[in-house]
This record gives sequence, C-alpha cells and structure tokens, in this order.
Amino acid sequence: MRVIVLGAGLLGVTSAYYLQQLGHEVTVIDRQATPAAETSFANGGQISVSHAEPWANPSAPLKVLQWLGKEDAPLLFRIRADMRQWLWGLQFLRECTPARTRHNIEQIVRLGTYSRDTLQQLRRDTGIDYHQRTQGILHFYTTQKEFDGALKPAEQMRALGCDRQVISADEAVKLEPALAHIRPQLAGATYTAEDESGDANRFARELVALARAAGVKFLMSHTVTALREAGGSIDHVEATDDEGRFQRIRGDAFVLAMGSLSPLYAAPLGIRLPIYPAKGYSVTMPVKDAAKAHQVSLTDDEFKLVFSRYTSAANDRLPGRDVLRIAGTAELNGYDRDLNRVRCEAIVRRVEALFPGAGDATQAQFWTGLRPATPSNVPMIGKTKIGNLFLNTGHGTLGWTHACGSGKSIARIVSGLAPEVDFAFTGRGG
Ligand SMILES: Cc1cc2nc3c(=O)[nH]c(=O)nc-3n(C[C@H](O)[C@H](O)[C@H](O)COP(=O)(O)OP(=O)(O)OC[C@H]3O[C@@H](n4cnc5c(N)ncnc54)[C@H](O)[C@@H]3O)c2cc1C
Repeated sequence: MRVIVLGAGLLGVTSAYYLQQLGHEVTVIDRQATPAAETSFANGGQISVSHAEPWANPSAPLKVLQWLGKEDAPLLFRIRADMRQWLWGLQFLRECTPARTRHNIEQIVRLGTYSRDTLQQLRRDTGIDYHQRTQGILHFYTTQKEFDGALKPAEQMRALGCDRQVISADEAVKLEPALAHIRPQLAGATYTAEDESGDANRFARELVALARAAGVKFLMSHTVTALREAGGSIDHVEATDDEGRFQRIRGDAFVLAMGSLSPLYAAPLGIRLPIYPAKGYSVTMPVKDAAKAHQVSLTDDEFKLVFSRYTSAANDRLPGRDVLRIAGTAELNGYDRDLNRVRCEAIVRRVEALFPGAGDATQAQFWTGLRPATPSNVPMIGKTKIGNLFLNTGHGTLGWTHACGSGKSIARIVSGLAPEVDFAFTGRGG
C-alpha cells in the first residue's frame, strides 16, 4: 500500500518506520525543513512508564483553581474566548473522577510498558544511539502531602506491571547523590529502575536516517492545507511547498500525526478530536560542576518538572556538551508559543534551589513546545469513521515514552494486523 504520514514529529517518524518495516511504500509530509522540529524538538527526554498519572485526577480541580492567574503556576489555564478550550476544560473535569483516573492510568501504563519494550527492541535491532541513559527514573517529593498522594497511583502502577517502588528519602539520596543538598526537604520518593531517558530529537533524526535508507520518502517544507474526501475515503491531501507551489498527494491510506494541529485538519471531515495545545517549557544548560549534577533522570512532582542529562545533539547551540535538560509546566493558552520570562525564570530558580552550581544558568537556552493534549492524557491511535484515515496523535505529556509503541501499533492497524498491546484504540482498531 502507498501510505502517507502527515507530520514528521516523533509520532509521524515512528509510524513511518514501522509502516515501512511491514512492507508499505511510505511518504512523510511536514511543514518544517527538518524532522522533529516542533513539539518533538527539546522535550524532557524521559521514557517514563512511571509518569502515568494524568493531569486530570481527583486533586486537579482544586489545584487548577488555586493556580488560576498565577504566572508561574505549574499548570495554568489562561481562560480565553475559545470554545475549543472551554469544551476541553469540561471534558478534563469529567476525567478527574477516581474511576476515570484509574482507567486512564491503566491505558497509559499498558501503552507505556509496551512502548518502552518496543524502543529497547529497536535499539537491539538497529543500534540506534540517542544519548540514552538506562539508570531509571526517580520521582521525588518535597512535601508530605504530594508524597502521600503519590502512593496510591504508584500501587496501581505496580499492580499493572510498572515496577515503581516507594523508597525513603535516604534511599533516594543513595541512588542520586545530587539530591543530598535537599535531603532535609525530601518527604520521600519513588524509583522505577526500568525507565530511561534520552534525546528525543536525536532519536527522531537517527530514525529518519534509517527510514530513508530503507526507502521512506520525506517531503519536508510542505504544508498540508486540506485532506480531501471522495466516496467515503480520503482521496488526496493538498499541500504547498515553501515556494508556494500547490500539490495533490495521493495515497491508499493516511496517518494523521500532526500533533496539536491534528484536530484542525480532522474537523472539516466531521471528525472531532478533543486535543488542545498545552504549552510546555524546557531549559537546556551546560553542566558546570559534574559532581553536583544529577545522573539519574528525575521528576519533581510538586513543580511538574522533569530532569534529564545528556550530551547535546549536534544541531543544538551547545554541540557535544554535557547538558542538563529541565522541562515541564503547562499553560493552556491556544497556539501561542511565546516564551514567558516569568515561567522561564521560575524553572531556573527551582533548578538552582535543588542543585546549586550544577548547571551554568548564564548559558541557559529556553524553548516552548505545544503538547497535543487530550483531557484524559490517553492518546488517540487507530481508525476513524473514514476507512483509510488513521490517527496517531494526542500524546500530550508522554509522546516520547509512547512513540515506538504507538508507531508500531498504528502500522499494524493500517496493515489489518491486530495490535500487540491491550489498549483502547480508536475505531475498531483494538
Ligand atoms: C516541555 C515538554 C516536555 C516534554 N517532556 C516529555 C518527556 O519527558 N517524555 C515524554 O514522553 N514526552 C514528553 N513531552 C511530550 C512529547 O514531546 C510530545 O508528546 C511529542 O513530541 C508529540 O509528538 P507529535 O509527533 O505528536 O507532535 P510534533 O512533534 O509537534 O509533530 C507534529 C508535526 O506535524 C507537523 N505539522 C503540523 N501541521 C502541519 C501542516 N499543516 N502541514 C505539514 N506538517 C504539519 C509539524 O511541523 C510537526 O513536525 C514533552 C513535551 C513538552 C512540550
């Protein structure tokens, strides 16, 4: 089959790779000149099955209300005259019940475990290198309340096969000596030895090289303007290149993987995707004092920040350097990607408070990306009401963690094969 993948972020690139592996003729279209140049560019780097508790959980509504209007809040709703934002907010509230939270954690853990296994298999098969670190992920808590709140979800995750162990503050410092500085503030921690981290952008570019070598075509700098339906299936997509030249691109099947833009292209076809952009920030800074910098990938649950460390990718402005990547927080404010100074400084302040002297904040680089967020944090992967249109989108906070599992699953669904994981795929894909 000739399959057209729309979007060359992590989800488009993994879809294309696995589709090609199943024998399809694959073309990927993206508006950027290089792959993974939007939300997949500078994320937190964590492959975190253990980060399965969605934003929508029983404690969220109160927190969100308390944070309204607070410029440096970890999760900030900027209320707009935007019907899509309001509808998303209402659906988010519906996902906050204990029963929905349990259901969503189950979906996220299942896909996460499968995806991490799939990534590890890909590494064994291809030797792909993306500055991966396999020292696990440690979630630490600086308030007793946050720590107590994490115990139940961690127990549920263990029951689902994610080995997220509860550990004491002293055990946390033993695993990650850089935490010694904040030992007095630590209420406790959890540790998931099988979780990993790595440079998602480098991974995507390396996978594109492997896919290209295997025959996948990449039409970069091509902006998709519409998907055209005829007789109950997608006949072609319309696109313009960077010189404004119009093209119709035909295929037998189409995979929509355009991140937070996906709903805008599905809506004219009568397909409503509850995906809204949730702006996140990342800070990348060179390591100043290696002994003070963390080795294990960390999650600071209270501030909704994740910490990774790796040698910077060649296309970064810090080539070849040992860097710290700190990422997180969320701002629901439409498609705005402006860097808010207050939010950037709040992240740097937190890093300095936790690991003083570890990174060189004077050389910090700031970035924002729009997470394609569903109200439940469960991505939309599978079939649609249009027979040859498939979804691989809405991965929110976990698009890197879920990339390989989602890519392989959609490739199997497009090929008429059963997916290998028990997950709530859209349409009749499951
Ligand atoms: C601050 C931050 C930290 C994060 N940390 C982590 C983490 O630690 N672990 C984790 O698992 N996940 C993390 N994530 C989430 C993860 O980065 C995303 O879920 C993932 O990158 C989404 O990938 P995507 O392919 O769906 O979207 P994108 O990467 O945005 O790809 C979509 C592609 O579609 C293209 N496109 C859009 N519209 C058009 C058009 N009209 N025509 C042609 N092309 C188009 C874009 O150019 C883009 O390349 C983080 C996200 C952020 C913002």
